[in-house]
Amino acid sequence: MSKTLSQNIRNIIIIGSGPAGLTAALYAARGNLKPVLIEGVQAGGQLMITTEVENYPGFAEGIQGPKLMQEMRKQAERFGTEFIQGDVGRVDLKSSPFLIEMEDGIQHVAKAVIISTGASAKLLGLESERKLMGRGVSACATCDGFFFRGKDVVVIGGGDTALEEAIFLTKFAEKVSIIHRRDQFRASKIMQDRALANPKIGFIWDTVVADVLGDQVVTGVRLNHLKTNLITEMKCDGVFVAIGHEPNTKLFTGQVKMDERGYIVTKKETTETSAEGVFAAGDVQDYRYRQAITAAGTGCMAAMDAEKYLEHHHPSLS
Ligand code: NDP
Repeated sequence: MSKTLSQNIRNIIIIGSGPAGLTAALYAARGNLKPVLIEGVQAGGQLMITTEVENYPGFAEGIQGPKLMQEMRKQAERFGTEFIQGDVGRVDLKSSPFLIEMEDGIQHVAKAVIISTGASAKLLGLESERKLMGRGVSACATCDGFFFRGKDVVVIGGGDTALEEAIFLTKFAEKVSIIHRRDQFRASKIMQDRALANPKIGFIWDTVVADVLGDQVVTGVRLNHLKTNLITEMKCDGVFVAIGHEPNTKLFTGQVKMDERGYIVTKKETTETSAEGVFAAGDVQDYRYRQAITAAGTGCMAAMDAEKYLEHHHPSLS
């Protein structure tokens, strides 16, 4: 990719508009750095497909995910963040100024970059799952739960997401069965207690979904009990896959150091990546905590780290 040096070299470009990106934008904007934030086609990140957020400090009664993101965006905008819609197609982060090319070919150049592209839901990888996606298979109960009023659904997974989705789905579905590959949940105690106490939720342990059944729409699942190897079929109308997430880092392959799972590696106690002047915040660099509040916290850190970097390398700004 050839670098076309734009007349308008930006101080900081932030890629991604979840809690990490928007918090980075807020801090950079208040630092008078006039940040540019590239929102991505699915602006707002994972909280846009969440309902009630009960654990974001400052909202004693809870807040809806999309509302929280709307407020964060307004706050970042208030201090002068410039927003660009669309997805990034390619980047060149080998040396500053960095080049960011949008999918439509428009190029932007920046002295510093903050990567906050988050993570996306993982899928099982079955052909039948792909074929029936949107026809009974879903990775988002909040988006699709409504379609399963009075129906039987299964939720696959044993983490907080699976249990949260299962509890949410009981508002619509007649029966919700959680299928987990072990005999113990990974989810937090409070979520386990809520799910176990819910009369509409059933549990299928030590079991994986070997196939999703149905031609035009989902009609059931083929189950494999891992301890006995028994294969059975179970009727259901919906299959919700909630088996974790993978970081959205394909765009940055070969440009910044990543771990074996594809998460961006940051230097201890900072948000610095292996490329000087490029910082990473939020779920894209965090396998462990993955909370809105930790994403926001690292977004703040990234803006402060970028500000220090700019002061040092581009002192004319200060
Ligand atoms: P997790 O990685 O925590 O859990 C994934 C679950 O899916 C595990 O139970 C795992 O099984 C199972 N799994 C993974 N791959 C497969 C597969 N191929 N086939 C079958 N099962 C599979 O992901 P979550 O999305 O649940 O949570 C991510 C993070 O977000 C966590 O830190 C969680 O605490 C947090 N979170 C917090 C919420 C809240 O506080 N309200 C809500 C939602 C998420 P196994 O256990 O055997 O590995």
